[in-house]
Formats: sequence, C-alpha cells, structure tokens
Amino acid sequence: MPLKIYNTLTRKKQVFTPIKKSHVSIYSCGPTVYWYQHIGNLRSYIFSDVLKRILLFNGYNVRHVINITDVGHLTSDADEGEDKIEAAAKKEHKTAHQISEHYFSVFKNDLGKLNIILPDVWPKASEHIEEQIGLIEELEEKGYTYKTADGIYFNTSKFKKYGKMARLNIKGLQAGKRVSMGDKKNLTDFALWKFSDPPGVRQQEWDSPWGIGFPGWHIECSAMSMKYLGDKFDIHTGGEDHISVHHTNEIAQSEAVTGKPFVNYWMHGAFLTFKGEKISKSKGGLYTLSELENMGFNALDYRYFCLTTSYRKQLDFSIEKLKSAKNTYERLKNICQELKDDGSENKKYLEDFGKAVNDDINTVKAVQIIWKLLRDQKANGKLETVRKMDEVFALNLLIKEHIKIPKNIQSLIDEREQARKNKNWRLADELRDKISSYGYTLSDTTEGPVVKKT
Ligand code: AMP
Ligand code: ZN
Repeated sequence: MPLKIYNTLTRKKQVFTPIKKSHVSIYSCGPTVYWYQHIGNLRSYIFSDVLKRILLFNGYNVRHVINITDVGHLTSDADEGEDKIEAAAKKEHKTAHQISEHYFSVFKNDLGKLNIILPDVWPKASEHIEEQIGLIEELEEKGYTYKTADGIYFNTSKFKKYGKMARLNIKGLQAGKRVSMGDKKNLTDFALWKFSDPPGVRQQEWDSPWGIGFPGWHIECSAMSMKYLGDKFDIHTGGEDHISVHHTNEIAQSEAVTGKPFVNYWMHGAFLTFKGEKISKSKGGLYTLSELENMGFNALDYRYFCLTTSYRKQLDFSIEKLKSAKNTYERLKNICQELKDDGSENKKYLEDFGKAVNDDINTVKAVQIIWKLLRDQKANGKLETVRKMDEVFALNLLIKEHIKIPKNIQSLIDEREQARKNKNWRLADELRDKISSYGYTLSDTTEGPVVKKT
C-alpha cells in the first residue's frame, strides 16, 4: 500500500510522491531555545520522528533538518514585544549565547531519551544571518518589501496567493482587526528585519544594508530550509499553531523569491492540551520531560502515550492517563521480552502494520496490531515482526534494561532462592509478595529469577 499523508495545503490525504525517487527532504520547525521544551513541544518532534521512521520503513533515504531559533522570535507573533532569548538572558543574568546553548543541550538530551533520531543538520538562526539578509535583498529587488520606522516589512498584498494554505479570509481579518498596525500597510504584513532600538543594547544584533538589527522569525526558516534542502523540498512539519502565521509567511517569502512552489507537503501536529487548553511555554508550560522522570515516568512511557492518539487529534494530558499508558507499555514490553526467535517473520501482521502506518501515520491502529499479534496464539515469527515494528515505534520493546536492584531486594531474592532450594514454598511465596510490595516482580526462568520493576 502506498504511503498516504494528510497535506494541510489541500486538506486531503494524498499519496506521497517525493521529488527525487528515493530521497525525502524534511524540515521541522525547531524550538525557540529560551526555556525548556515542554511535553507539548516534544509531542511535535515525536510526530516528525514517527513520520521519518515510516519513510525509512518504506525504504526511502531521509534528509532531515530541525532548526534552532536563537534570535528573532518575539513575545508576540505580530512582530511586537521583546525577543524571547534576550528577555531570558536578562532574567537569568546570562548571555544570549549561554541561554540558547543551555536549552538547546537540554532539548537534544530530551530527543535522545525519546528515541527521536537526531536530524542531519540543526542550523541556528544566529549563524545564518548572511543567508537571511540575502533573501531579504532579493525580496527588496522584486518589490515585495517596504521600510517602516522599526524595520523592513513584507508587503503581503503583493503576493497574490497569500494565506492560501491557511485559508485566511484577508478581508475579514482586516475588518475585524484588533491589533495595532503601527506603520504596516496591511494587517498581515510581517517583519523581515527589525532595527535595534537603540543599537548597542541588544546582545544579538548585526549590520545590514538597512541598518543594525536582527532578522524576523519567519525569514530564518525560509533561509535555512532552502540552504540545506533546496528551493523546493518534500515535507515541512510543525505544530498546528504555525499554520496561520509562521508557515503562511514562510510560503509567501520563499515563493516570492523563487517564483515556484516551496514545499509539496505541509504536515501539522495537533496540540497536547491540558483540561482542553493549549499548553504553552509562554504561560509556564506544563511538564518538562525531566519533571515527568522525577515523578517516576520514563521518556518512552510518554512516547507510547503519544502513539495511542492520532497526530492530527488534540491529545489531552493528565497524569492519570500517562500512568495508564505506562502500565500498558510496560505490559507490552514485558511480553515482548519473553518472545523466542523461531527464525521467521509474520508477513500478514507486517503487511497490516505497513498498511496502518502508511495510512497517514495511523499509529493507533499500528499499536492495536502489535497487541493482536502478541495475543494471537497461532501466529509465528513474533520476535522478528516485533523487531521490525519497533523500527517505527522506537519503544525499545526488545531491549533488556539492566535494572539496578537495591541491596535489600537482592537479599530477599537470595533468601527466596534458598527457600525454594529447601522446598519451603510457603516462605518462598511470602518473600515474593514482599518483593512485589517494594515494586518489583519476580519470574522464575530456567536461567534463574528475573526481576522487573513494576
Ligand atoms: P517553539 O519552541 O515555541 O517554537 O515550539 C516548538 C514546536 O512545538 C513548534 O512546532 C510548535 O508548533 C510546537 N508546539 C507548541 N506548543 C505545543 C503544544 N501544546 N502541543 C504540541 N506542539 C506544540
Ligand atoms: Zn519555522
């Protein structure tokens, strides 16, 4: 079954056809590294990782770029407010560079814990100023820009297809406008370059043909994606919040420069919500991955939790739901760990699995299929089939973890082994119960007792 994905451009599931026969290029809007990424942000990267793994499963080579926004993202998406990185530097009494490096390294760590394949390139906006200035110059030459007191703006009325992907009703927006326009000619116009006001105060600013300042948030993604993937590439991902402004502006700038379609497939991950509301960093976020870990969860519990809902549906988070996902995931993993290799793989289940994941990343169905396989008494090739499926799930289903057994538990285990040798079954059972009351389960195998954390 061919891979089908939902394209926000057409609002349809479409058969995926890459530009080059076996190579796929993906750009994912990366984090603004002024604070920890919360688990909502991380849901977006789990989604792009599963997409990438499905492409690999289908035999494609994948080139993946995730950018790092370390300048230019203002507190308001309407080109107003403070630069988030500069504000964090002030608050934490650090340099902008220290701030971005710190949160970038935490982000990288989180991706690793979540088994997310790291991108081929993660360009930083502050290291691509020349490319961004280059694009703005081209836009200027082509008559798409104008200057105001605070920067160089993109004139959206000059780009006829502006807002097409987001299905923006431009006239309606203009009529109902509630935000201040400043010197902007149209409500939807956006900054390509902002002037430092006054120069010498910001930590990150650069000289440009228009004056000292810094790039707008949208131009960075056009500059870096085109630099590393070409003027036109296959897939662009991001959270659903990016559809109406950020991605709409990326399309306008890029297509105005090149005169051709920028990206073939736009894919958007739905939000993680809490009590029905969007979780956002600017409102303090919800949990970070480390916070979940401190509460006794594993990163992969969260990955499993995300896989059980379609990436296109909002997912409402609660600790209770995560606990239940953790239990199911651990059960799944425990069953997989007991599987024995019979030298085959199960073609039918693999085919069903392939159909599910190729149907717009239907991980919900794919998870049901692995459970069905494990429960199927007659199915052959379970181990190899699980191994293949886990290339997409990336849940370490077959990786045995070496758990550290505390001393007191180890002596209970030893005592119980002795009791079993003495055929004192009552004492052995009592000791097993005691061990389990500490949160460990014991199973007796031919190689001796195997202990797992419950
Ligand atoms: P940011 O660091 O704010 O630029 O966001 C990084 C990524 O997380 C972007 O792709 C956002 O669209 C996405 N994102 C932000 N909030 C959420 C959320 N609550 N659920 C899922 N994705 C989100
Ligand atoms: Zn972006």
